[in-house]
Amino acid sequence: MTKTLPQKLQWIEDELQALQESGLYNHIRTLDSPQGAWLVVDGKRVLNFCSNNYLGLANYPRLVQAAKEAIDQYGVGPGAVRTIAGTMSLHVQLEKRLAAFKGVEDAITFQSGFNANLGTIPALVGRGDVIFSDELNHASIIDGSRLSRAQIVRYEHCNPADLEAKLKAHRHEFKRALVVTDGVFSMDGDIAPLDEIYDVTQHYDAILMVDDAHGEGVLGRGGRGIVDHFGLHGKVDIEVGTLSKAFGVVGGVVAGNAKIVEWLRQRGRPFLFSSAMTVPDTAACLAAVDLLEESTDLVDKLWANTRYFKAEMKALGFDTGQSVTPITPIMLGEATLAQEFSRRLFDEGVFAMAIGYPTVPKGKARIRVMISAAHEKADLDQGLAAFAKVGRALGVIA
Ligand SMILES: *Cc1c(COP(=O)(O)O)cnc(C)c1O
Repeated sequence: MTKTLPQKLQWIEDELQALQESGLYNHIRTLDSPQGAWLVVDGKRVLNFCSNNYLGLANYPRLVQAAKEAIDQYGVGPGAVRTIAGTMSLHVQLEKRLAAFKGVEDAITFQSGFNANLGTIPALVGRGDVIFSDELNHASIIDGSRLSRAQIVRYEHCNPADLEAKLKAHRHEFKRALVVTDGVFSMDGDIAPLDEIYDVTQHYDAILMVDDAHGEGVLGRGGRGIVDHFGLHGKVDIEVGTLSKAFGVVGGVVAGNAKIVEWLRQRGRPFLFSSAMTVPDTAACLAAVDLLEESTDLVDKLWANTRYFKAEMKALGFDTGQSVTPITPIMLGEATLAQEFSRRLFDEGVFAMAIGYPTVPKGKARIRVMISAAHEKADLDQGLAAFAKVGRALGVIA
């Protein structure tokens, strides 16, 4: 039972009601198991096609062990913001290791990828400056851009020609300029043409920043990310990333030139005014870097699983959209169909979310399947059988 709200807050109840009625209310499922190929969701054991746990590290024994050992040595909490009493040798080690992994001079960690963007963008541009931003960039880039007070100019999704037109038209009106793009776009699984974006950006005296949240641990050699994927080392100024997806833990990272990182340690507000990553998070992330540097097995398995699942889905007759990454949208069209599809999959023991407007455009509703190295071939086969059964029952495939 919840209490009714006083008159001045009545609007919240009305808004919640409206969300329910329009089918946009988030019903959040509760897990009673670790993240992995299989989950216990609302008491039921289901195959997991929802999480960003690309490499299966969220419950990987070496990471869990590293977190436990670090707790025994350092406790759990950082105690303060990093500049005052919160930087531990673990944080310093993690930043050095992440920089080496990415092949850059230095790196700085934040509490999350979201905070990394909120901290980085306003430290680079401000009033009188301009940000050229892909129209489908992540919410944290949008919010970081707004916080900066710079003028925001949106360019067409993954369209370097439109970016160039916008740079030509507006660059000269402003002092500093930042071009920013997601590396991998999470709803369609497409990749920003970073090589072409670099070529364009280079001619307009603009800083180039990529948010590689879905590319880290996935793209490039051994999961070194989108810059490595395109061989753009030393050309992209700032790489933002997250430690919550392929790395399986939580935290954000900004990697690049040592002077830029030093500037963020002086001026990144979530770094200065919010406490650091906790001890177990930091230690688990260090173990994740160890794993990735030692072997490409998990990254290779992720891609083998991705290729298999997509080929089989296409053979069944499903439309898997434009994806070139483990993010696999199953295009269904109407939101009501996608929701019904997701419900029936759940009945078949498969947990895969329906995504509709406003997260994706109207009429482009879909089920999004997230492939992981945690999946075995038998898991994927079971998932494929469920998709085939529900797809036929709903007339999506023949
Ligand atoms: C997930 C995501 C983030 C947020 O990362 P967290 O570490 O979960 O805060 C930021 N940017 C992009 C592009 C993302 O996909």
